[in-house]
Amino acid sequence: MICILRRLITDNKVEPYTEHRQKYEVDQMKNFTGKSACKGVAIGRAFVLTGHDNDVRKWHIDDTEKEKKRFFHAKSISISQLNDIYEKAVAGTGKENAQIFKAHILIMEDAEFVNSVINLIEEQSVNAEYAIKAVADRYEGIFASMEDSYMRERAADIRDIAGRLMENLSGQGRVSDSVEGQVILCAEELSPSETVQLDKEHVVAFVTAYGSLNSHMAILARSMNIPAIIGVGQDFLHEISNGDRLAVDGYTGRIWIAPDEETIERIENKKREDEQKKALLDELKGKENITLDGRTIDIFANIGSVKQLKDALDVGAGGIGLFRSEFLYLESSDYPTEEQQFTVYKKVLQSMKEKKVIIRTLDIGADKQVSYFHLEKEENPALGYRAIRICLTRPELFKTQLRALYRASVFGKLGIMFPMIISVTEVEKIKVICEEVKKELSEENIPYSEQVELGIMIETPAAAIISDRLAKMVDFFSVGTNDLTQYTLACDRQNAAIEQFADTHHEAVLRLIELAAKNAHENGVWIGICGELAADTSLTETFLRMGIDELSVSPVFLLQVRDAVRKITLL
Ligand code: PEP
Ligand code: MG
Repeated sequence: MICILRRLITDNKVEPYTEHRQKYEVDQMKNFTGKSACKGVAIGRAFVLTGHDNDVRKWHIDDTEKEKKRFFHAKSISISQLNDIYEKAVAGTGKENAQIFKAHILIMEDAEFVNSVINLIEEQSVNAEYAIKAVADRYEGIFASMEDSYMRERAADIRDIAGRLMENLSGQGRVSDSVEGQVILCAEELSPSETVQLDKEHVVAFVTAYGSLNSHMAILARSMNIPAIIGVGQDFLHEISNGDRLAVDGYTGRIWIAPDEETIERIENKKREDEQKKALLDELKGKENITLDGRTIDIFANIGSVKQLKDALDVGAGGIGLFRSEFLYLESSDYPTEEQQFTVYKKVLQSMKEKKVIIRTLDIGADKQVSYFHLEKEENPALGYRAIRICLTRPELFKTQLRALYRASVFGKLGIMFPMIISVTEVEKIKVICEEVKKELSEENIPYSEQVELGIMIETPAAAIISDRLAKMVDFFSVGTNDLTQYTLACDRQNAAIEQFADTHHEAVLRLIELAAKNAHENGVWIGICGELAADTSLTETFLRMGIDELSVSPVFLLQVRDAVRKITLL
């Protein structure tokens, strides 16, 4: 097969791709409007992640050496995965059947295959994903058109190899590694893992053609405080090219290509106003979260990575109310080990010192997809195999995370929170697994804290309705209003077309929160809110009146919520 491959490569040089989008001629200002996912303004040069080609985007790379390293790194992970698969296949189905995986390794190591990819990266300054796809497409086409049926089937192997390489490229800081200088990132849409890896030093704003305001892309933009406009439409992407000057107004959802002097001045004025407002809010740092009549409330921070700890500490968060641990998985190209997770949890707990840290266990599925989980494509992913459902059906995975959490628990004040709960049975099962983990650690003489709090997210109507029973089983509740709204109102949070129906202030959602608060308190457990609604200051008084004990918000909103609390009187 390799010989054939060699001959094909020499006979059929990979053609350079042609840049199909013309550079935008800057002769007049153009503007577009989308939805504001995160307020704020920015002026900068466009960095465009272009055209989906079977989900492979092509973009310009300045540092091709770095890009080649990404490719070699993905190649070596892929080869070690294939060696493991080969060993398992030999044991399971015999050497002959396992041979195909050796063939995949040979192709991946084939000098001419590798050189074709490398040449494309170097000569065309393109990303590794695109180079792999272009080379693989060419080979695949050649195999597919062969008369011999055995050879035709080899096209599928090429697809497989390219797919594996690309999977292992993702999670390697794809976007952030390729951005140079300060840019406004423009794309069709960003995945949650792409969003969380954005580096604020480089990406001063982002604009997407599609997307919904309740997606994790939007939530993360807010939590990272990167001005973001989404749902601008595909036309915008057709109009811009890399390097175009853009002005972004995240308050109004407007973007200007090649802004004129007047627009720039207006945006710069808004920027100055933002800085003044921020300075005013900064005066609230170190102050209490106390109402005019003396009622206090905890205000904690939501974070998705260790990087965001700094923001939480900077605004004086009273604790971490939601650490979205799934981003450890989303940013990685393989299952994070117990040791890797332990290091991260320990760091968060140590950084927060005496303050409470609520770490949510793995919540993937729906829009948070991790390629190496190989989850089946589902018709209704939000109603599907996600979050605790994955953990309870894959206890080895769950236990690895719980071991890391319990081991880290001696370094601070830990709460472990479980997502997507719908039943008493689930909580019973979770508690049994936690006990097993603790027992194993004791037998291995590994210390853990006995003070770890166990809590659940109230983010399904089922959990809210049976919260009287659930409250007897846990130490705390935290309301996930993003999902609670989606499930109560039957409005897919990913679907931008029905956003107008997803009324987060809907009486049904508020009544469910109130019910959960009443049941929590009647059973002596505390209740917080960690969904986006916690930062909605028009509801702060309502939440205080319901008796909510804690609000957990993106660090960027923390001082605004404190400000709102300090202006309320409950008398
Ligand atoms: C929620 O659903 O409100 C929540 C906090 O979790 P996530 O947004 O990550 O689903
Ligand atoms: Mg949720």
